[in-house]
Amino acid sequence: MAGKFRKCMMLCCSRKLVREEMGKDTYEEAIAGLKKLLSEKDQLGDVAAAKIRQLTADLEANAKKNFDPVERIKTGFGHFKKEKYEKNPTLYGELAKGQSPKFMVFACADSRVCPSVILNFQPGEAFVVRNIANMVPPYDQTKYSGAGAAIEYAVVHLKVENILVIGHSRCGGIKGLMSTGDDGTTSSDFIEDWVKICLPAKAKIKAACNGLDFDEQCAHLEKEAVNVSLGNLLTYPFVREAVAKKTLALKGGHYDFVKGSLELWDLDFNLLPSLTI
Ligand SMILES: [Zn+2]
Repeated sequence: MAGKFRKCMMLCCSRKLVREEMGKDTYEEAIAGLKKLLSEKDQLGDVAAAKIRQLTADLEANAKKNFDPVERIKTGFGHFKKEKYEKNPTLYGELAKGQSPKFMVFACADSRVCPSVILNFQPGEAFVVRNIANMVPPYDQTKYSGAGAAIEYAVVHLKVENILVIGHSRCGGIKGLMSTGDDGTTSSDFIEDWVKICLPAKAKIKAACNGLDFDEQCAHLEKEAVNVSLGNLLTYPFVREAVAKKTLALKGGHYDFVKGSLELWDLDFNLLPSLTI
């Protein structure tokens, strides 16, 4: 066992080293590396490699028969242009001049929870940030400048009146957070480090929901993580100022796509939904 463990550790460490080395590459070096890998693959002239190539070609041909991504994109845009853009010249004429959304929304990148679909937001209504598990990181000009820039733009320049952080059922990112080891070790380049933003919520749920099974704990964590994000929003001075002036309201939400329901609550750290639709 010890030998196996050591071997595993060595593999993990070497994989980590490779990843770290790759992480330091410029994009030109990364492209050169990819080309090298591809050319090495081409030089594998044995039967197995030929078989793999044939199999890959067959799979690609079959997949293309069933799904053509370019065609899907063209059809999608054609539908939007005919049914929405050309039928609403006033709206799109106004939007051409500028935007004045009432909402900023943090939603998960999950393909099932697009806020424009589930909340029927029309173009111009919501300034949306989507990421793994709809998390708002705390103010950090170095580590989280992407999120900070979006919040600053929405609050300071667009002057949104509401920020909604909306979680959802069966969130993979939240499952990842719940599964992450407590000893600080990680096995992914980015995911675990990102979802650790909501570690305080995990600690709270682990303590409060000790008797529940994993899935039930995750369901609670989906909501409590939203509360951590609402708290993190207050670490941005311009958010604090707007909330104090009552020009900005912070709201939490949770969309359950199994039950088809939505919970909505105001800035509240007690996990008490004020509205269930
Ligand atoms: Zn999710």
